[in-house]
Amino acid sequence: MLDDVLLTASRVRTGEVKALDVAKQALARIDERNGELNAFLTVAREEVLEQARGVDAKRERGEPLGILAGVPIALKDALCMRNTRTTAGSKMLAQWVSPYDATVVARLRQADALLPGKTNMDEFAMGSSNENSAYGPVRNPIDPSRTPGGSSGGSAAAVASGMTPAALGSDTGGSIRQPAAFTGTVGVKPTYGRVSRFGLVAFASSLDQVGPFATTVRGAARVLSVISGHDERDMSSLWAKVDDFEAACENRVRGLRIGVPEEYFAKGLDPEVEANVRAAIRRLESEGCTVVNVRLPHTRHAVATYYVLATAEASSNLARFDGVRYGLRVAPDRDAAGSNVDKSPLRAMYGATRDAGFGTEVKRRILLGTYVLSAGHFDAFYLKAQKVRTLIRRDFDEAFAGPEGVDAIVCPTAPTPAFKLGAKTEDPLSMYLEDVYTLPASLAGLPAMSVPCTPTREGLPVGLQIIAPTLRETSMFAIAAAWESARPSASGQA
Ligand code: GLN
Repeated sequence: MLDDVLLTASRVRTGEVKALDVAKQALARIDERNGELNAFLTVAREEVLEQARGVDAKRERGEPLGILAGVPIALKDALCMRNTRTTAGSKMLAQWVSPYDATVVARLRQADALLPGKTNMDEFAMGSSNENSAYGPVRNPIDPSRTPGGSSGGSAAAVASGMTPAALGSDTGGSIRQPAAFTGTVGVKPTYGRVSRFGLVAFASSLDQVGPFATTVRGAARVLSVISGHDERDMSSLWAKVDDFEAACENRVRGLRIGVPEEYFAKGLDPEVEANVRAAIRRLESEGCTVVNVRLPHTRHAVATYYVLATAEASSNLARFDGVRYGLRVAPDRDAAGSNVDKSPLRAMYGATRDAGFGTEVKRRILLGTYVLSAGHFDAFYLKAQKVRTLIRRDFDEAFAGPEGVDAIVCPTAPTPAFKLGAKTEDPLSMYLEDVYTLPASLAGLPAMSVPCTPTREGLPVGLQIIAPTLRETSMFAIAAAWESARPSASGQA
C-alpha cells in the first residue's frame, strides 16, 4: 500500500483500509528504517494519527474524500508545516517552529493527505548528496554506502524505502530530479511558477520550484495536480490552468517527436548510464515516437551560469538569518567583539550567529554570491550570467519551435549513478558537475522530470530525464508513463 499513491487513495476511499492503519504502517516503516537511513528529521507522530482519524471520520459521515485521502506524503524540511519545526537542514533553524503552512502543505491537507513529517536535506538546499545537512547525511536505501543524491535526499529516500508512497521536494538546479534518479523514484520539477513557493525556505528565488517524488508516474502526476495552481501569496506564481496530469499519463505517444541533445551525452557520462538511456530512447521509438537529434550548444555554460546566479540570489535571501528575525542567536564572546573592526556589538552578534549557524558550503556560497554582486564585479559576473541564461533558454526555444520542433527532450538525469558517501565532499567542483544535466532546464524555467531507467548491472538506479516546453507537463507525463509501462521489468523480462 505504501508503495503507491493511487492504490492507497482508492483503498482508503472504498473503506478497504482505514487511514489510521495507513498512518500506523507509515510510522512503523519509519521506525524500522530511519535509524539507518536518516531520511526524516522530524516525525509528526501525533499529528499524523490525528489527521488519519479525521479522514476516517469524514468517510464515516459520508462526506466526499479528497483525491489524496489517507496517502502519507513526506515534506522536505524546507517547507513550512504549521506548529512543526522547519530546519532547512541548518543549525540556524534548529529550533524554529513554523507558525503557518506553506501553500503546498495547505493544499495537501485539503486533499486529505497525511503528513507524517519532515525530511532531511542539504543545508538550505545547497548540495547534490545530502552531505551538507547539519543533521548528518541520508543513506541511499538501494545501497546504504551511497548517497541518495541531494538536496532533497531525505524525501527521495523516504519514498524509495517505502516509508511513504510520495514526498515533496524542491528543485533549484536538480534537487528533485537527481535524487529521484539515484534512488529509482519518479521526481518532477514543474514549470517555474506552476507551484507556489509561499512557505518554501528560499534558496534562489528565480529557480526554486516545489515538486513531487513518487513510486509511480501516475502517483507523481496526482500529487502535482493537487499542489499546482495560482497563489496570490507568491508573486511569481502563474495564472495558468492546471492541466489534468493524471489523464495525460494515458495519452498516446505515437507521433510525438523527442529530441536527443548530443551535448547531454558528453565526456564524463558513465558508459552504463549512457547505454541504458539510449536503450530507453530506442524503446520509445518502437512505441511510435520520432527521435530527432537536437543541439543545445550553450549547455556547457550552464554550470558556471547557475553557480553565479544561484549564489547571488542565495547571498541576498540568506541575509535574513541575522540572529534577530529568525532562529539562532549567538552572543559574541568578549574577545571577538573587541577585535571586531567597528566594535559594534550588533555586528559582532550578526557575525557570531552566522558563523555558528551556517555550514561550510552555505558560507562558501554566500561569499561567492556577495562577490559576484559586488560593485566592480557585477557586470563581469552577474550581468554576464543573466545574458548567458537567456542564451540557454533560447537553445530550448529553438529545439521546441516550429513544425520541425520536438515535443520533449530526453536525456540522462545525472552523469553517474549514486556515488559513495564521502566520494566528492573534498572537491566542491566535482560535486557541482553532478548538476550538469539538470541545470539547463532550471535556468530556462522548463518542466523536467526523472523517471527510473534500467538499473546498472550492479543494481544501481539510473534516471531518464524528460524536459518539456513551458507548461507542457502533459507531454512529459505521457512520455514518462509510456516508458514506465514499456520498461523491461526488474526480472529482466520485457
Ligand atoms: N545541486 C545543486 C546545488 O547545489 C542544486 C540544488 C537544488 O536544486 N536545490 O545548488
